[in-house]
Order: sequence, then structure tokens, then C-alpha cells
Amino acid sequence: MRSYKSTMATPIRLLPREKRERCLEEAGYNVFNLAAEDVFVDLLTDSGTGTMSDAQWAAMVRGDEAYAGSRSFEHLREAVSEVMGFERVVPTHQGRGAENVLYGVLIGEGDVVPNNTHFDTTRAHIAENGGDPVDCPIESADDPDAEGAFKGNLDVESVRTIAEDVGAERIPAVVLTLTNNSMAGQPVSMANVEETRELADELDAAFVIDACRFAENARFVQRREDAHADRPVAEIAREQLSYADALVMSGKKDGLSNAGGFVAVRDPDLFERAKQRAILYEGFPTYGGMAGRDMAAMAVGLREAVTGEYLETRIRQVERLGERLREEGVPIYTPVGGHAVYVHAGRALPEIPLKAFPGQTFVCELYREGGVRGVELGSFAFPGTDRPELVRLALPRRTYHDEHLEHVVESAKAVMDRHVTDGLEIVDEPDNEALRHFSAELRPV
Ligand SMILES: *Cc1c(COP(=O)(O)O)cnc(C)c1O
Repeated sequence: MRSYKSTMATPIRLLPREKRERCLEEAGYNVFNLAAEDVFVDLLTDSGTGTMSDAQWAAMVRGDEAYAGSRSFEHLREAVSEVMGFERVVPTHQGRGAENVLYGVLIGEGDVVPNNTHFDTTRAHIAENGGDPVDCPIESADDPDAEGAFKGNLDVESVRTIAEDVGAERIPAVVLTLTNNSMAGQPVSMANVEETRELADELDAAFVIDACRFAENARFVQRREDAHADRPVAEIAREQLSYADALVMSGKKDGLSNAGGFVAVRDPDLFERAKQRAILYEGFPTYGGMAGRDMAAMAVGLREAVTGEYLETRIRQVERLGERLREEGVPIYTPVGGHAVYVHAGRALPEIPLKAFPGQTFVCELYREGGVRGVELGSFAFPGTDRPELVRLALPRRTYHDEHLEHVVESAKAVMDRHVTDGLEIVDEPDNEALRHFSAELRPV
């Protein structure tokens, strides 16, 4: 059962079907172009879309908006120290700001940077600094049916092979993303974190953790890794991060905030360099592009994120959505990860050929049936790759109730029952194909 009650209500409405069809047409069959008001259940992302607690709102009122030496920064710094075990913190406007700051000082031309799987912005920032971002997931990760408690793990042996090929001196950093967002939100085991530490030592590389969903990851470790079953999640969360040399964090995920992020490091010299770069791109190092009130909210959010009550409600809700979809015969990626359920649209709409975008078609049909917004992460978003054709239904934290998710299940089932045969074709797309899913326009074929 939910470990909180709602004391603020945000009205949402389900538009009539004809209106939804018109919205879809006007949006060019791209749900990024929909007005949020026209969406009933919005599962586009879990990033910055969650509900803050009364304690977070209370902290916001007392936010200190001083340019330098803000008390709210001090509160954030203390929270990062207690919850995550890092003393040196550089605040940024969000996660990608943290990536720009850290990778801008760590990565140079010709470097190679392995990661269990690079998140889009991570990949882009490493490439921007002249580096070559390489994905090293374990073999079963791409298989939506493979069993495995930690399909988010880094394949450390494949990193060793890369190091032999290119030379360890070209690998300045090894990154581990907890949970593995681009791999269906799959968790990473504590054992894999430890192996990655050893690997980084061997290569004389910095060990960076992308900690966006570190709390959700800790809950999986507690439930699935025997050695940690009896420990509080907060302790596990802290231990995971204790092996790293640096963190990049988006407060919009497990910071339980609507904005913000930070870099945290151990090395005083790296700290100085990161602060100098942050001044250029983010802001003075005691606010980094955040309002004081946003830092205050994140300081409280980080502490709430590692409580057992919060995580139980959070992870169970995602898991339950997955169970209900499966019960109704909707094919999904299994096991279900931390922040989202991924529908296997290629199987849900088998009559639509890949060139007619079954994933994007499923997204549009889900909106047509129920005003539900998800996002395609398959052939439309990642042209030229052979990833499975998935649609992500990401759950904002502490936001939707079970009856909303039941509506999502019914809508998905209705899409399948209609046996849609018409797919989509692109009519207009931006020059940069890699970013097309944000803005391309399509039409039915
Ligand atoms: C969201 C995210 C980022 C980037 O954070 P933003 O706050 O969206 O800029 C980086 N890495 C991972 C794994 C993420 O999920």
C-alpha cells in the first residue's frame, strides 16, 4: 500500500476520442508535440515530473537565494555527504550540466569511455569532448525475455578486451549507470560495482557512477543480492557509491525534485577544475544554475529517496504495472526495471513492418485509445540500430494512482485488440537524425 497520502490535487481530464484524434494529427503523430493538458496519464518520462513531499515544499519556502555561500547549498552538501558519502559537491542546473562539467575536465581527444550503457546525453557529452563512448552491457541485456537479476551490469571482461586493443592509457574513466536507464532501467549488482572498482584500478582510470537512480538500484540489491538482504537500503545506497571516484547526478530522478543536479568528487584537484568549468557553464559553485529553493528541495528529496517506505511503494508500483500488462497479454521487457515498463511493440503490433515504425505506432495508438503518453525507444528514436522495438512507459514518482495505471493497462489492451495494421511514415525530420524522435513529423500509411 502507498506509504503517503495526497494533500494537493491536480485535475487531469480525458478528452473525447475525436478530440484526441485531432490532437494526434495536429502533433504530426509525434507525442512530444502534444500539449500536456491534452494528455490524461503522462508516462513520457520520470524526469522532474514527480510529486514533492510536504517537507520538500516547506524547505523551499526557506530557500536561501544568496549568490554566494547560500545556506541551501550547505543543506544540499550535507545531504550529499550523509546519503551518498561525497564531501565535494558542484551543483548544476540538471544532470547533463553535471556531465558537461565532469566530462569536460576528464575526457580529451582520442579517449575511450566504457559504460554499461551510455544514456543519450552522456554519450553526447563524451563525444563532444573528443571521446569515444562505448557501450559494454552484459550479453543478455538486449534480450527482452532473458532472465537475470542484474541485467544492467557492466561486462567488465569486454572492457578489458577494449583496453588491450586501444591501450589502457586511452581510457581515463569507466562509467557505471545505476540503474541502467538505456537498458530498460535494469539494476546493477553490488558485486558488479566492486568488479568495476577493481577494473578501474587496473586501468588506472577514474570510476564514475551515473547516480541518477542510485536509490532505486539499492532497493534491487537489497531484494536480489543475498549478502545485502538484511541491510537498510540507505546503507546499501551509500556503499554502492563508496567505490566511485566521482558521481554525476540528476536531481530530477532520485533527487525527487523538479530541477537540479550535481557533480560529486573525492579528489581536491579534480574538484577545483570542476568548479572552474561550472562557473563558466552553470553558475557560481554555491548555486550552479539552481535557485536556492531548488537546492533546498533536493536536499530533503535525497534523504526521502533512500527510505524503505518510499522505495517499496515506488518499485512495487512499477512492478505491478508490468504484472498487469502481462496478465492482459501485452508483451513487455522482463524483468521489469526500476522506473518504467517497456512494452515490446514489435510483438504487440506484429503486422506492422519495421519500416513503418511499430513502436511509434503503438505510442500514437495508446494516446488515441486512452489519452496515455509513452515514448518510443526503438527504430524511430535510434535509427540504424538493431535494438528491440520498445515503448517506454515511465512512472513519475508519487504521482499516479493505481486506477490510472489500470486505465493504462486497458488502453494498451485495446490497442492490441484492434490489430492495427497501418503504420507511420516520416514526412519531416531534422538534419540530426539522432534527435529525430523529439521533433520529426509523421503520417499514417
Ligand atoms: C536523466 C539522465 C541524465 C541527464 O539528466 P538531466 O537532468 O535530464 O539532464 C543522465 N544520465 C541518466 C542515466 C539519466 O537518466
